[in-house]
Amino acid sequence: MPIPELHLAHRLKDIAPSSMMRLAAEAAALRRQGRDIIGLSTGEPDLDTPLHIQEAAISAMREGDTHYTDIDGTLALKEAIQRKFDRENGLKFNIDEISVSAGSKQVIYNAFSATIDEGDEVIIPTPYYSPYIDMARVLGGREKIVSTSADNDFKMKAQDLEAAITDRTRWLVLNSPSNPSGSVHSASELAELADVLEKHPHVWLLSDDIYEHILFSGRFTTMAKVRPFMANRTLTVNGVSKAYCMTGWRIGYAGGPNQLIKAMRTVQSQVTTCPPSVTQAAAVAALDGPEDVLAKIRSVFLERRNMVVSGLNSVPGIDCPTPQGAFYAFPSCERLLGRKTETQTIANEQDFARYLLDAANVMVVPGSAFGVPNRLRISFAADIAQLTEACRRIAAAVADLK
Ligand code: PMP
Repeated sequence: MPIPELHLAHRLKDIAPSSMMRLAAEAAALRRQGRDIIGLSTGEPDLDTPLHIQEAAISAMREGDTHYTDIDGTLALKEAIQRKFDRENGLKFNIDEISVSAGSKQVIYNAFSATIDEGDEVIIPTPYYSPYIDMARVLGGREKIVSTSADNDFKMKAQDLEAAITDRTRWLVLNSPSNPSGSVHSASELAELADVLEKHPHVWLLSDDIYEHILFSGRFTTMAKVRPFMANRTLTVNGVSKAYCMTGWRIGYAGGPNQLIKAMRTVQSQVTTCPPSVTQAAAVAALDGPEDVLAKIRSVFLERRNMVVSGLNSVPGIDCPTPQGAFYAFPSCERLLGRKTETQTIANEQDFARYLLDAANVMVVPGSAFGVPNRLRISFAADIAQLTEACRRIAAAVADLK
C-alpha cells in the first residue's frame, strides 16, 4: 500500500532538527559500524550524577513520589530553587515567581510560547545556542541576530543592541558563560546593556545562566542582580543539567515576574502537565546538597580546559582562546582554510570538521552552527585520555594537509 503523504505544518518549514543531537546520533551510528570515533560534539557533562542525588531519586520512588505534581514544580523544589537564587545569586523570588520544567530548554520554550506573536523579534547575539532561533521561529517569531567579534571576546556591544531593537522586539537572550564561546559577562558589561534596555521597557531579557557553575575565573553575576530595575522584566533561567551532571534527568527552572510565570504555567499545563516527579526530588537534593560537589566538577573541567587549549594551540594553524566558562573550546581554523587534502580543498570550517571526522575520527561542530564561521566548537566534556588522543589526531590530520 502506498504511504499517504504527511501534511507538515508550515511552522516546521524554517526549523531544523537539533544539529547537536544529529551529530551525536551520527557519531553513535559510526561507532556501531566499528569506527573508533571520539565525539566532541555533545553539550553534556560525561560525569556521573553524584551519588547523593541518585539516592534521593531512589528514595522518592520508594516513598511513592511517582504521581503528577503541581504543574510547574513541587513546593519542595520551588523552595530549594528560592534558596538557591538567594544564596548564590542574591535574587529574591516568591514561590509564585518560580517555574520548573523538563529542562531549561522547555523553560525557554514556555516563555517564548507565552509571549511571542507572529512577526515578533528575539534579539540573539552570536555565537548562539541555536535552539533560541528555532524555538522563536516555530512560534511564528523571528530572530534578530547581532554579530559580535573575537576582538570583543564575542560579547555584544551596547550600540549594537540599541541598533537591533524595534517595536517588535520581545526578548533579548543572553547566555553567560556562553555556549559555545565560553565568554562571561562582567557586571559592568551587563550594566552597559541594561542602560540600553532601560530606554526600551517593552524588551524583556532572558538570561540563560545554565553554565553558571562551570566558571574558571572571575565571578558569576546575572542581570536581575546587577540592575534590579531589570528584575521586573527578566527571566533568569537555570537548571541542574550542567552543574550537577544531570542532563538526562530533565529539570530546568526559572525565576521571574509572576505574570510571565503564570502564563508559562498555562502553557505547560496543556503540554506536559508537570515535570517528572522523581527527578524533581533529585533536584532538591542537588540544590540543597553539599557545595563541594560543584567545586569538584568545576576542577575536572578546569584541568580538561587547560589541556585542550594548550593541545589545540600547539597545532600550527589553529588558534584557541581560553574560555572563561562552560565546557567548550572555540578555536579558529581560519589559517588552515585553502589547504588541501588528497582529494579536496578545505574551503571553510565545515570542510575542516568533515575532514577531521573522515581522517581523524574526531567529531566536532562547525562554528556556523552557532552563527560564527571559521571556528569549531570542541567540547571538553570527555575524559583526559580521550581529549589527549583527540588533540594528537587533530595535529596529525593537520600535518597531512598540503
Ligand atoms: N541553554 C544552553 C546555552 C545550553 O547549552 C543548553 C544545553 N546544551 C540548554 C540551555 C538546555 O539545557 P537543559 O534543557 O538540559 O536544561
